[in-house]
Amino acid sequence: MNKCILFLTISLALFLTACGGTPEPAANKNAAVDLTKTFKWKMVTTWPANFPIFQEGAERFADDVRLMSNERLDIHVYAGGELVPALQVFDAVSGGVVEMGHGSPYYWAGKVPEAQFFSSVPFGMTAKGMNAWLYNAGGLELWNEIYKPFNLIAFPMGNTGVQMGGWFNKQINTMDDIQGLRMRIPGLGGKVFKKAGGNPVLMAGSEIYTALERGTLDATEWVAPFHDMRLGLNRAAKYYYYPGWHEPGTVFELMINAAKWSLLPKDLQKIVEIAAAANSEWIYAQMEFHNQQALAELKTKQNVQILEFPKEVLSGFKRLTRETLDEEAATNPAFRRVYDAYEAFRNSYESWDELSEESYQASLRLE
Ligand code: CA
Repeated sequence: MNKCILFLTISLALFLTACGGTPEPAANKNAAVDLTKTFKWKMVTTWPANFPIFQEGAERFADDVRLMSNERLDIHVYAGGELVPALQVFDAVSGGVVEMGHGSPYYWAGKVPEAQFFSSVPFGMTAKGMNAWLYNAGGLELWNEIYKPFNLIAFPMGNTGVQMGGWFNKQINTMDDIQGLRMRIPGLGGKVFKKAGGNPVLMAGSEIYTALERGTLDATEWVAPFHDMRLGLNRAAKYYYYPGWHEPGTVFELMINAAKWSLLPKDLQKIVEIAAAANSEWIYAQMEFHNQQALAELKTKQNVQILEFPKEVLSGFKRLTRETLDEEAATNPAFRRVYDAYEAFRNSYESWDELSEESYQASLRLE
């Protein structure tokens, strides 16, 4: 080719590109994808059927994927117990019985204790910090490394926001008031509560109201105003304490069987990833919206006193949390590794959070 013509051709192409003209279309990266191939997948969740926001979020995710993929990936969602029991979701996805699951990593603490850090730990990070750690500071990579031996891929898909401390049938003024208290409080929070002299009780959500109302339980935590009122807990106990020191921002997970995931074309994988992130935000925004509305309603109930835990009680729980986490880490190297990574990010993040969000929030309470 004549050098002059070549020069002019390149110049014209650069000119068109710079002016927003249409350059030669890039090769379609999905050219090799068979667009007629469809996938029919199953997703099992740990939530009861019709459970607001949580189960809704899982179904909304499946609807989004179906629409965005032009029905090439069709996911049927089953609530807890419909296909497999709620607490067998991990095994069902890990073993390839189904392709996907929705729940929260701390449900698998018996099998993978370190997974609790990807969910929520007492006095841990809130949703903002968890998002920063998971998406940008290696948290998600570490989570996937921890899940790899179980043939699982994980994406965050939801956050409860800061939960409430729970419902009590008596006032809590000092750590002495915790002694012998029978409270439904699972996981690491339950271990801390036990160290404080309390008696943590394991109980499914469906049984809580009756147990509290009949006095089999002295206290219970559940979620926050919206879900707690739907369970009728405001009619079963008088004192509603905050903050939820034991669950400051519980992350939900989308888990996918790794072998099934590898069979999905890249564009469908990307659709799943984007739909999971979008519904993570949707669930969190729904929680914040419904909880403020439910709190306003709760404040009009004559029989409920909404109280902040005394500083002495919170600092007591905080000290015992440190002991609990250190004890777990001393006997489990994998727990130690995730704990260290979590703490390294949290320490650095806290100084930014204090200076930005906390300082600003404090200014809002000024006259
Ligand atoms: Ca809870």
